[in-house]
Amino acid sequence: MRPIFIAGNWKLNPPTLAEARQLAVDLKVQLPSGSGVEVAVCPPAAFLAPVVEAVSGSSIKVGSQDSSPHASGAYTGELSTNMVKSLGCAYAVIGHSERRQYHGETNQSVNQKTVAALASGLVPIVCVGETLAEREDSVTFAVVEQQLREGLKGLSDSVKTGAELVIAYEPVWAIGTGKVATPAQAQEVHAFIRQILASIFNSAIADRLVIQYGGSVKADNAEELLSQTDIDGALVGGASLKADSFVGIITAANAVAVSA
Ligand code: PEP
Repeated sequence: MRPIFIAGNWKLNPPTLAEARQLAVDLKVQLPSGSGVEVAVCPPAAFLAPVVEAVSGSSIKVGSQDSSPHASGAYTGELSTNMVKSLGCAYAVIGHSERRQYHGETNQSVNQKTVAALASGLVPIVCVGETLAEREDSVTFAVVEQQLREGLKGLSDSVKTGAELVIAYEPVWAIGTGKVATPAQAQEVHAFIRQILASIFNSAIADRLVIQYGGSVKADNAEELLSQTDIDGALVGGASLKADSFVGIITAANAVAVSA
């Protein structure tokens, strides 16, 4: 059985530390208990330490939105995986489509960052997904396969159980657009991803790897998406910025976990 894992990607929000702390505290207070659903938030780098402190004593974990492939040195503006880990974080989102689009991330840089995150004991949440043009050109599967094969290259020594790594399938056309993939569209790609993961690792590991869906997930579409066989969680942008909407998604996940 795979756990359901819901993570919130706050992106460049909220604008102030006070608001970030408040969001974390609201979430901690409103978090539904007793489901076994795993929950994490990924605030901006500047807010990682205070958010770790704000959620302490709860089951909420914290992750960075990116991390460097380098451990130290002359890399201005970077955040190493050891730094992220030493703040008390558990996860690092890697290769988000906004990083690929605006910061020149490639499958190769995703691979280097994933290797570094694993070496530091962080669980990388590696994002893959096709653009609208790629979907319309019917190359979704080819694009996602290449992202997985190149992004996860050489990881067989570090991924032994499947718990070390999370994959997020985020069709770029569904991120922040309100256009959610249908449960059938998402399931089709998730099943394909699991098949590729089985060929990269092995089928036992692929069966245990959590594959999140991301792209306009909300409280009212989460249950149907999470009920799909190969959808094990959600990476949530906009709807993670308000405690009540994020808690609505966690509540939907609880319902799926309980009925499984
Ligand atoms: C994301 O940023 O990863 C995301 C899925 O955003 P949204 O939920 O707003 O589409």
